Amino acid sequence: MTSIDPALQHAYKEVLRRNPGESEFHQAVEEVLGSLGPVIQRHPHYLAERVIERLCEPERQIIFRVPWTDDHGQVQINRGFRVEYSSVLGPYKGGLRFHPSVLLGTVKFLGFEQIFKNALTGMPIGGGKGGSDFDPKGRSDTEIMRFCQSFMTELYRHLGEYTDVPAGDIGVGGREIGYLFGQYKRITNRYEAGVLTGKGIAWGGSQARTEATGYGTVYFADQMVQHAGSSLDGLDVVVSGSGNVAIYAIEKVTELGGRVLACSDSSGYVVDEKGIDLELLKDIKEERRERIKVYADERDGATFVEGGRIWDVSAQIALPCATQNELDEDAATAMVKGGVKVVAEGANMPCTPGAVKVFQDAEILFGPGKAANAGGVATSALEMQQNASRDSWSFEYTDARLEEIMRGIHESCRKMSEDYDRPGDYVFGANAAGFVRVADSMLALGVI
Ligand code: GLU
Repeated sequence: MTSIDPALQHAYKEVLRRNPGESEFHQAVEEVLGSLGPVIQRHPHYLAERVIERLCEPERQIIFRVPWTDDHGQVQINRGFRVEYSSVLGPYKGGLRFHPSVLLGTVKFLGFEQIFKNALTGMPIGGGKGGSDFDPKGRSDTEIMRFCQSFMTELYRHLGEYTDVPAGDIGVGGREIGYLFGQYKRITNRYEAGVLTGKGIAWGGSQARTEATGYGTVYFADQMVQHAGSSLDGLDVVVSGSGNVAIYAIEKVTELGGRVLACSDSSGYVVDEKGIDLELLKDIKEERRERIKVYADERDGATFVEGGRIWDVSAQIALPCATQNELDEDAATAMVKGGVKVVAEGANMPCTPGAVKVFQDAEILFGPGKAANAGGVATSALEMQQNASRDSWSFEYTDARLEEIMRGIHESCRKMSEDYDRPGDYVFGANAAGFVRVADSMLALGVI
């Protein structure tokens, strides 16, 4: 707790007391409070109004049973969650994660991050997150469908385009959003397109939503690099993960002239000195839903390292796009020795606090997830905008809006960090800028 200003220690202790054992949630709160000391000193009324304590307590937390039947007729039971964290800026907005590691604390950490991320986009969206400990790996399409239908059979009563608007996250993509939307529509008898985002283009989805998180991360990295007087062209890049965020980060890096040397999944990583072949990667991961090892089997000159640490591959740019706490202090130290210059988080909280400190001490340009991966949710807000006006925009127009939003986020972080005499500190900039927008709006709405 040493990094937290004494004036905020009480609030943090309350978080520990009220949420025992939820280490990821503690980590996310500590990270934000760690930045807010100077803000509180300049604006002590936030303390007097107990804004921090209010933000540390979710508005509503929903936990429910999800019973379903597998292909062998066996009854399966999972646990479902939706943490409706803050509706100060708009309806609760944030994805659903289906992964066996999901606990209430996981969803709470993600929901907490989401409040500030969504605030940074400048769009009218509050913060929320949900999910289940359901493991989609190895499940058939019909099992996925039955699970999604059962999940929505409980969740639908809590949703609405003005109330709570989920989307995808790890383990939830277009296929799952389809099954969830189908069940919502069936139960409510309403074609309420704005109740879920990440929908298919033919049934209310937005162009560029699939690409948005990965593209946005690269737009943000590009802004950091440009402000440091350089460009991505000709640089070597390592991208962890091989899901939706990683794939479209790789696509955009390649388009901007960078070379992606390596990517990974939970079984290990592949190295391809020629630069990752995107068509092959998409085919393996999006169409065939196979493991990353298959990439090395099918691509000349590529190698697979089982269980290894992708961060041992040296590059000037690193984009962690897999999952929380995937990059620790040891890895960060090795990366700094290997010459990394820029790190931008495509995933939520992929770098441990120790890793972030190593990067900051070495004056590496570091873009935290709240800012760098906000492109996904920002484009979800654009999808809501299109749904509300019953319109659909072109890919080029939507992508241009996304790029403009990412520039805006970069600018807010930069201005805030300069205003507090901490130029180049994007962690402080993102936390402070996100916080101030939420806090001021919260105060305007009274004691809520
Ligand atoms: N799951 C994504 C995130 O972490 C997207 C959420 C959304 O589009 O609502 O921001």
